[in-house]
Amino acid sequence: MATLSRSEAVLTGLAGIRGWQEELYRDLHQHPELSHQEHRTAGIVAGQLRQSGYSVHEGIGGTGVVGVLRNGDGPAVLLRADMDALPIREATGLPFASTVTAVDAAGDEVPVMHACGHDVHVACLLGAAQLLADGTEHWHGTLVTVFQPAEETGDGARGMIDDRLAEVLPAVDVALAQHVLPAPAGVVGTHPGPVLSAADSMRITVHGRGGHGSMPQATVDPVVLAAMIVIRLQTVISRETAPAEAAVLTVGRIVAGTKSNVIADHAVLELNVRTYSDATRTAILDAIRRIVVAECQASRSPKDPEFELFDRFPPTVNDPDTTARVAAAFTEHFGGRSRVMPLQTASEDFSDLPTALGVPYTYWGIGGIDPDSYRTAEEAGRVAEDIPVNHSATFAPVLQPTLGTGTEALVVAALAWL
Ligand code: ZN
Ligand code: ZN
Repeated sequence: MATLSRSEAVLTGLAGIRGWQEELYRDLHQHPELSHQEHRTAGIVAGQLRQSGYSVHEGIGGTGVVGVLRNGDGPAVLLRADMDALPIREATGLPFASTVTAVDAAGDEVPVMHACGHDVHVACLLGAAQLLADGTEHWHGTLVTVFQPAEETGDGARGMIDDRLAEVLPAVDVALAQHVLPAPAGVVGTHPGPVLSAADSMRITVHGRGGHGSMPQATVDPVVLAAMIVIRLQTVISRETAPAEAAVLTVGRIVAGTKSNVIADHAVLELNVRTYSDATRTAILDAIRRIVVAECQASRSPKDPEFELFDRFPPTVNDPDTTARVAAAFTEHFGGRSRVMPLQTASEDFSDLPTALGVPYTYWGIGGIDPDSYRTAEEAGRVAEDIPVNHSATFAPVLQPTLGTGTEALVVAALAWL
């Protein structure tokens, strides 16, 4: 009789947890919570981790939960799932669709939906945590599970770090995370090197001197100043960034003035930058400040411009060795269902955790779309039209094999170290 591999041995419990895992998923999906409001979800997570035998730390960075399972000497692996949902009115038609509304940070009542699939991430990580706790005879080391709030606002991981995360964590050797994507369910995808972009939004206020529209000589016009800045900023990517380096700079908003014959006294510009390396990111943000300051001087602006960065996400740059180790384990376990994931244009704040802890990381994708529907759409050349993507009101991952695959991926990847 052939002996089971260690991951096969741990995963023999998968069929046994399927029932509660699917039920848990439906419950989370029906009760989504906005970023920084994940109280119910965090309570469920903490209760389940305790039941699985983990020592649990709650309220880290607001609603963050950490579960630690020590199982003898050996490496320590951190597995992370994000918990928050989005202000979207669900239109999936699922029997367990959300009808929840909540009051957002601006004080407005908004519909809430797990449109990014973070409910999948939570259900998969709780399942993997249970299986690894049940199968401690097959591994040794320390398993650390991190359930993070507020990924969608880009400040949840940072909030946990700033609120004693390093104190409650044992030293870890590697950090791992996954995201459900609009790809066929059952498939896992790894990608070494840069995989998700950094995102930075910047609000810039430039000052003029207001006055009558008929007497420009007595004013400093912030509208003309803002226009010059927008044009000049177009050279940051085209003239200052290497052609092979992917980057985007978009001015998405300009606000100035109240009336056609009044020259305003200030203008506000809001822009968004996407980059794939820290060096390019720093260079572009510095170039923006330099150009704005110089244009203000050129326009005789009476006051220094103000800069405010918001909605910031770090780049996700998968460590090549860590990724190769996970990819090899995936190929052994999943065979042809282990693929290379293409570069993604989205952003994530997961990498803030390993960066702060000084450990390597990798972040992989799992498919969430019914394989038959996906194949039909692909054959018709209609993937873009027919397959809902994350953040869409109709994004509805199929329960299986999505939950099973995501759970297997976490177990297999963790056991590549443990
Ligand atoms: Zn999202
Ligand atoms: Zn997400």
